Amino acid sequence: MTSALYDELIAKLRKAHVLGSVGDLLMWDEQVNLPAGSAELRGEQQAVIAQLHHAAISEARVGELVAGLEVGQDGPLDDDARTVVRWARRDHDRATKLPPEFVREKAEQGSRGFHAWAKARAASDFASYAPVLATNLELAKREAAYLGRGDSPYDYMLDKHDPGMSAAIIGPLFAELAEGLAPIVRTITSSGKTPRTLAPFPIEGQRTLLREVTERIGFDYTRGRMDVALHPFSIGSGADNRMTTRYDTPDPLDSLFSAIHEAGHGMYEQGLPREHYHTALGQAAGMGVHESQSRLWENQVGRSRGFWAFFEPRLRELFPTQLADVSSEELYLAINAVEPVVIRTASDEVTYNLHVILRFEIEQKLFSGELAVADLPAAWNATLQRLVGLTPTSDKEGVLQDVHWSDGSFGYFPSYTLGNMVAAQLWTTMVEAKVASDDDFARGDFSKVLDWLHANVHARGKRDTLLELVRRATGRELSPRYLLDYLRARYLPLYT
Ligand code: ZN
Repeated sequence: MTSALYDELIAKLRKAHVLGSVGDLLMWDEQVNLPAGSAELRGEQQAVIAQLHHAAISEARVGELVAGLEVGQDGPLDDDARTVVRWARRDHDRATKLPPEFVREKAEQGSRGFHAWAKARAASDFASYAPVLATNLELAKREAAYLGRGDSPYDYMLDKHDPGMSAAIIGPLFAELAEGLAPIVRTITSSGKTPRTLAPFPIEGQRTLLREVTERIGFDYTRGRMDVALHPFSIGSGADNRMTTRYDTPDPLDSLFSAIHEAGHGMYEQGLPREHYHTALGQAAGMGVHESQSRLWENQVGRSRGFWAFFEPRLRELFPTQLADVSSEELYLAINAVEPVVIRTASDEVTYNLHVILRFEIEQKLFSGELAVADLPAAWNATLQRLVGLTPTSDKEGVLQDVHWSDGSFGYFPSYTLGNMVAAQLWTTMVEAKVASDDDFARGDFSKVLDWLHANVHARGKRDTLLELVRRATGRELSPRYLLDYLRARYLPLYT
């Protein structure tokens, strides 16, 4: 729609979005290119851009425009305009309701927290990290209170990552998932089947392979690129998407699956409606939906028979000596290796969600006060033993393994498992509709999947919450059933 107030708001949102994209670029460059001695100037550059971005979205005129449009000052809003205004309201409130002193305090604490965590983790010294966590928890509760959610701070944190989510919605879903996963893990671990460890692949060949794979599945390199960073990530919009991967790990397929994962994030951004990149209509629905896109390509597609029917010959061409004595079945089992471990990020697709469920349980107890920070390591180890059947040998491998809480990112972990559930449910629908088929994949054709995701997920922007999006795209309510069915179908035949 178009009206004077609406057009003025759109122009302001565009400016804020462009400033945000400059911030993204500085962050990407920091991780990929920045000379070690140039960090100080980069810090200043980022601070200036962050201030400008904050000023653009918190501008009083933005508040006036949103308020005017909300009461129909410029006539009734159509559905799309309502979505744009609703999100502008949310972003404007977040930017204006937090006092500047609080924002500064939180940023400083975040940076202090990160360094304290890195030090504590290296020394496996939880006691030195405990005060940081206690402060971060308190700041999170204060933030929720400023935004009018003081009565349910953990739900506020969940909703921050996945709009509309709450512990009451997630709790039963995760409980059902944990119950269903236990027998699958038991069957696999008692099968006596041990996947082979593949010999290391030369980096040059890995680089060639992941470029070919990500291009083939549909990442548009005329609007994005792939570089190397310590931790793989993807940033930017569909107009300019930057992905990274890494090569220095003992697992020769790690770089490939990291790249497919990040390309999945990138293809979501690239699939959002171009003409709306600067408003909610052209932006991602939330963390969980974002993760569903990366996971779907990484796991459902990237570990399928059809996918490997197409790429295995190329893999053998690139790494002939490394794979000389590895049969096709051995290779496929190595690609779908399952082994419970204590580290979340090193976990396979089957056990990974148990690590997320552990963090969800613990975060709830921390926020309710049922669990004191000092008792975290013991609670962590007991929960891991119950869910995964393992106990870490040190806090470094236990409660100190993740960076997230060090800067106060609570409520973030559940997005990973929500994403896995959404991915499996979208996949089920695509398989039923013959949109996803091993026959197409085996011919190197992944276009039907990408087209379907464009139409049913990407085109929606932020119009739907995660639950609404799943209902609309699959015709069913979000349920862990589809993830459990998918895992059984893929893994049980391999491990029996
Ligand atoms: Zn991801």
